Amino acid sequence: MNGTVECTRCHARMESGWVPDNAHVGLQRQNWCPGEPQPSFWTGLKAAEIDKFIPVTTFRCPNCGHLKSYAIPQSRNGALVSGRSSSRRQLAAVLIGLAFLLIAFGVALLFLIRAK
Ligand SMILES: [Zn+2]
Repeated sequence: MNGTVECTRCHARMESGWVPDNAHVGLQRQNWCPGEPQPSFWTGLKAAEIDKFIPVTTFRCPNCGHLKSYAIPQSRNGALVSGRSSSRRQLAAVLIGLAFLLIAFGVALLFLIRAK
C-alpha cells in the first residue's frame, strides 16, 4: 500500500508492518479471505475460496500504539500477491506428518512380525 496513513486517534503518521501468525510451520502473514471459515479436521479451519486471499498490511501509530489493518491486493513484479503459498506450506507440513506416521506404523509392524 502506497502513501501515508494518519492515526485516527492522535493524527500521527503511522508506520507500515504486518502481524505474523505463528503456525506450526513457522511465521506466516495474515490474510483476509471472503466468506466464513469452515472447520477442518487436519488444519483447524479451511477457506472455500483460497485463491481470493489478500495479504493484510497493518499500520501502527508510534505515538499511541493504535493498529489499523488493510487488505488491498498488492502487486509484486506485476503479479498479485496472495496467501496461497502459506496454505500450500500448511498442506505440505500435513502431508510430511502423514508420511512420518506411515513410516512409523510400518516400522512398528515390522517389529511385531519379527517378534512372533
Ligand atoms: Zn495514534
